[in-house]
Amino acid sequence: MPVTREELVRAAATYGTPLYVYDAESISVQYQKLVRSFSNTDTRFFYAAKALTNLSILKHILAIGCSIDCSSINEVKLALKAGFSPDKILYTSNSVAFSEILEAVSLGVSVTIDSLSNLEKFAATYGSSYPIGVRLRPNIMAGGNVKISTGHAGSKFGIPVEQLPGLEQLVNTHQLQLRTLHIHTGSEIADASVFVKGVQLLLELATRFLTVSVIDLGGGFKVPYRPEEKETDLDELSQAIEHAFSEFEKNTGRRLQVWFEPGKFLVAQAGYLLATVTVIKPTETICFAGVDSGLNHLIRPMFYDAYHHISNLSNPEGPLGAYQVTGNVCETDDFAIARMLPELREGDLIAFHTAGAYGFEMASSYNARFRPAEVLIKQGQLHLIRRRESMEDLLALQISIE
Ligand code: PLP
Repeated sequence: MPVTREELVRAAATYGTPLYVYDAESISVQYQKLVRSFSNTDTRFFYAAKALTNLSILKHILAIGCSIDCSSINEVKLALKAGFSPDKILYTSNSVAFSEILEAVSLGVSVTIDSLSNLEKFAATYGSSYPIGVRLRPNIMAGGNVKISTGHAGSKFGIPVEQLPGLEQLVNTHQLQLRTLHIHTGSEIADASVFVKGVQLLLELATRFLTVSVIDLGGGFKVPYRPEEKETDLDELSQAIEHAFSEFEKNTGRRLQVWFEPGKFLVAQAGYLLATVTVIKPTETICFAGVDSGLNHLIRPMFYDAYHHISNLSNPEGPLGAYQVTGNVCETDDFAIARMLPELREGDLIAFHTAGAYGFEMASSYNARFRPAEVLIKQGQLHLIRRRESMEDLLALQISIE
C-alpha cells in the first residue's frame, strides 16, 4: 500500500514542515522487484548509500537482505554502525586519498579503485594479498543529464579503457587478485541496452584478466519522476545478462557473478518532501507560490533541472492554476515553473514526490536554516528518524573568537 494523503498530513501535523517522509514498504517492494527480475542470474545488490544514509533506512535495507555500496569511508562506518557485516559492504572510491583505501581494507570490506595512481599504491602495499575491484571508464554516454552521466569519454570517473595496457601491467607485475570489473555509466538510464553495451565490454575485458569473477554494473536504473515515465525494463536486462553470461561460460568455463548498486531505484519513490506554502504572490506574468523550503532542502530541480511531481495535500480538488513554486533562500530556487496545480493558498501543505534519493542527503543549512526532520512510515506507524535541527545544532561546531 503506498503512503496515503492522510498519513502525510498526519506526519506534517505531528512533526511540522519542512519534513522528509519515507515509506519502508516502498523500499521493500522495489528490492523484491530486483530480486525477482534477476532470479535467473547469480546477482548481488548493493544499495548505493549515497542516495540516503539515515541509519534507520540503512537498517531497513539490511533487514530486507540487501548489501550496501559506500562512496566514502564515513559511509562505510555508517554501514557498519547500521549492522552490515564487512562482507556485505562495498566501498567504491573516486578521487580519494589513499589513506581512505587503507582504512577500508583494514575494515575488511570490498574495495573498488578508480585510478591507476591509487591502484599502484594498493599494489605496492598489498600485492596479491587482498582482492580488489577496478572501476573502468567505458566511454559510453548514458544517463538523464550530463551531471549524472559518468561513463563518457570526458568523465573523471574510472580508469579510461584506453589505459588498459597500464592496468594489465600493474595486475601482472604484482599478481593482483583482480576480482571485480566495475562500471557505472550514469543515473536514470531508461534504456536497458546501455547496460548491455557495458556488459559486452566488461566480458571482453574479463577474458584478459583470469582472476575476475564479478562484473559490477553500478547503479542507474531509472525510476519514473514524471507521471508518464517508465522504469528501466529489468526483465529485458536480466535476460540479456543471462544470455551474455551463459555464452561467456560456454566459451571460457568461467561462471561470473553480477553486482548492481541501485540508489534511486530503491529509495527515490519512497520519499516525499512536505512543505508549507508561506507566500502567494500573483504578478502580471505568473503566480509565485513561496514555500518554507528551498534548494537547501531539495536541490535536484535547481542543480540539474530535475522534475518532482507536486501535490497540494490541503486542497487536492481546488481549481487548477499555473504556479511558479519557489523556495525561500537567497537564490532563484524554483522547484517548478508554470506548473498546473490545484489552487495553492497560504498555509497549504504540499508534497514533492519521488524525493527519497539525493534529497535530504544533499541538504544543507544554507541561509542558517535548519535541515528538515525525517520520518519513516513502517507498518502504518510514524517513526521520527531525525529530529529537526536547532540553533544549538547550527552553532555546535563553531568556535567564536573575540
Ligand atoms: N554506484 C555508483 C558508483 C554511483 O556513482 C552511483 C550514483 O552516483 C550509484 C551507484 C547509484 O546511482 P543511482 O542512484 O542512479 O542508482
